Amino acid sequence: MGLIWNQIFGQQKALTQLDQSLKNGRLSHAYLFVGPSAVGKKKTALALAQRILCESGNSCGCCRSCLKVEKGQSENLIILQNDSTELKNNQGIIKVEVIRQMIASLSLQIWQGSSRVVILDQAHEMNLQAANALLKTLEEPPSQTYFILVSSQPHQLPSTIKSRCQWVQFGRLLPQDMVKVRPFPAWVLDLSHGQLDWAEYLMEEEYQEVSRRSFYFWQSLFEKKEDLENLLSFLGDIEKRPYIMKHWSSFLHRARRFCAQGSPALEEKDSLDFKNEQTLFIKMASQPQAVDQTWIRFLELQSDFDVHVEKNLALENFYFSLKEIWQ
Ligand SMILES: [Zn+2]
Repeated sequence: MGLIWNQIFGQQKALTQLDQSLKNGRLSHAYLFVGPSAVGKKKTALALAQRILCESGNSCGCCRSCLKVEKGQSENLIILQNDSTELKNNQGIIKVEVIRQMIASLSLQIWQGSSRVVILDQAHEMNLQAANALLKTLEEPPSQTYFILVSSQPHQLPSTIKSRCQWVQFGRLLPQDMVKVRPFPAWVLDLSHGQLDWAEYLMEEEYQEVSRRSFYFWQSLFEKKEDLENLLSFLGDIEKRPYIMKHWSSFLHRARRFCAQGSPALEEKDSLDFKNEQTLFIKMASQPQAVDQTWIRFLELQSDFDVHVEKNLALENFYFSLKEIWQ
């Protein structure tokens, strides 16, 4: 119980920027919080809402309004979001009806002197119609109303929306901040890229399976054993695909780092997985250019998936270009 603001770890730059605006009475009516997923953007939006709506006016954390915001029951705080979690789903859409409903509710009277805050999580999931509906309200916001758009993919937002908002940049979390949330082991901290959703996932059993299968894919590729059918069936599991893509991203990132710097200092160096991986990296490091090319192909595959081109075709292209690179 208390001030959500004090429960945010890391992100000092963003907090300072917002804190100064609050104290100077120069809050923007529309913010866009951008940065990787699961680094504290939405929590900071809630924390800012709590401070804006605080009845004592000095971010007490214990007035009626502060408690309501904390419990998610404040009538002056509207939170719009897609139900699916970001790691698993890239298909979500925030429809125009949802935006219109929110705008209509803003026309209702509020207590004199009080403010309202609208948080739009994963704002890039608005379809164009929804974004256009929101734009009009952002251009002429009702008095005492603050919008906080949160997005890990701001490039997908229309530029008209982006230019209406004041940007607040969030960075990846540092290991020392992540362990305040949960005591993650060192190897998880190393692989999670400073993102809590990814760290939590690495702790799950399911990850172990994806990790093993994924590792086998790369190993087989270098030993020229993997066949296309195998890859397609592996990636055919739509549910697991985002995890696999994350795993590959992480794997290739480490492979490139290995090529550049050699073995990283890790506490879990004794684990079998780690040793197997190092053996593979040593093989890969003999062809650093091929590693870079693989990384580029992987980024292309990712963007193919983002724009929903025919998935199997994209995978086939990926596979054949890898074979060419590593033959
Ligand atoms: Zn308060």
